[in-house]
Amino acid sequence: MSKTYNIALIKGDGIGPEIIDEAVKVLDAVSSSEDFDFTYDEVLMGGIAYDMTGDPLPDETIKSARSSDAVLFGAIGGEKWDNLPREKRPESGLLRFRKELGVYSNLRPAIVYDELINASSLKAEVVKGVDLMVVRELIGGLYFGEPKGRDENKGYNTMVYTKPEIERIAHSAFEIAMQRDKRVCSVDKANVLDVSQFWREVVIEISEQYPEVELTHMYVDNCAMQLIRDPKQFDVILTGNIFGDILSDEASMLSGSIGLLPSASVGSKIGVYEPIHGSAPDIAGQGIANPIATISSAAMMLRYALNENNAADKIDAAIKKTLSEGYRTKDLAAYDAKEICSTSEIGSIIANYAAKCKL
Ligand code: NAD
Repeated sequence: MSKTYNIALIKGDGIGPEIIDEAVKVLDAVSSSEDFDFTYDEVLMGGIAYDMTGDPLPDETIKSARSSDAVLFGAIGGEKWDNLPREKRPESGLLRFRKELGVYSNLRPAIVYDELINASSLKAEVVKGVDLMVVRELIGGLYFGEPKGRDENKGYNTMVYTKPEIERIAHSAFEIAMQRDKRVCSVDKANVLDVSQFWREVVIEISEQYPEVELTHMYVDNCAMQLIRDPKQFDVILTGNIFGDILSDEASMLSGSIGLLPSASVGSKIGVYEPIHGSAPDIAGQGIANPIATISSAAMMLRYALNENNAADKIDAAIKKTLSEGYRTKDLAAYDAKEICSTSEIGSIIANYAAKCKL
């Protein structure tokens, strides 16, 4: 019997509506050749939610997300709302949303498409074939530890991880590795920090439940260097909040373009799938935004939230085919483009390929 997945859809501000529309187009196209379909519950967040309800995160949005199978999210924010009080700003709505959903695991893949190899600032032979995933702990560690504070003579934060916090993020990384190349590199600073020594011990303990996955360890300073020297050595990088914040931004730039990269924030129940870029107000409404990061986020949603790996593979293959045939949005026009397409045109090309894809 065919399944129906219920997706909470948050378009947000700026280019958000344009890119989400293309992701929905591709999801519907791929589901036509699979044994499932979607219902979408479109709810508000960000500046548009503030304009319409006075709250950047209305209760209805949290309710819809909680009763969904997954959340597909565009982007929020823009100058128009920058001078509002902090709690009314679009960004506050997003942070509150992540906390409400308890999404502790931030997944940031860095993929380098062969067709766009020249878009990277690194040499082609270094980045060709890169396909890695940073799994960053998102709601603990240095950014949340107590005590924290400042006075006229000092400022301080505390890096603390409890055993359950490490266990759950480690499980997240090992489970993802099981769906990939089955290699986890845990990144810490265990040569200096007690919290990292503890992190390492707990990760080793959890690894015993995943005998098929190879576990290695690396100090964070070395990892920062290795990502530039030889990024292809990595499959899954597992790390804490601050190290992951820095390393995932470093890794994302291997591909050379912000319009391409997806992300997922996952936790105990509902995951949030979204592009890594913002609402790009400078290009909103012009039909030139690149929807690939959002379409690729939808593929992550299929893979990690819905366990529809076949459909996710079809979308990934459709994106590759579209790029290899030279279709580009304006942001990638300088890299081997044969035809420059609008947001909607490139969405339709990917949707068409995804629907016809035979794996
Ligand atoms: P941005 O990512 O929106 O844009 C940076 C640059 O990249 C811009 O020149 C933009 O045109 C370009 N760009 C971004 N996405 C693109 C795409 N898909 N296709 C083509 N070009 C693209 O970052 P910003 O300008 O610093 O922030 C704009 C707003 O977005 C701010 O209000 C910020 O707070 C918000 N923001 C939201 C999120 C989110 O919703 N998760 C994340 C980051 C920033």
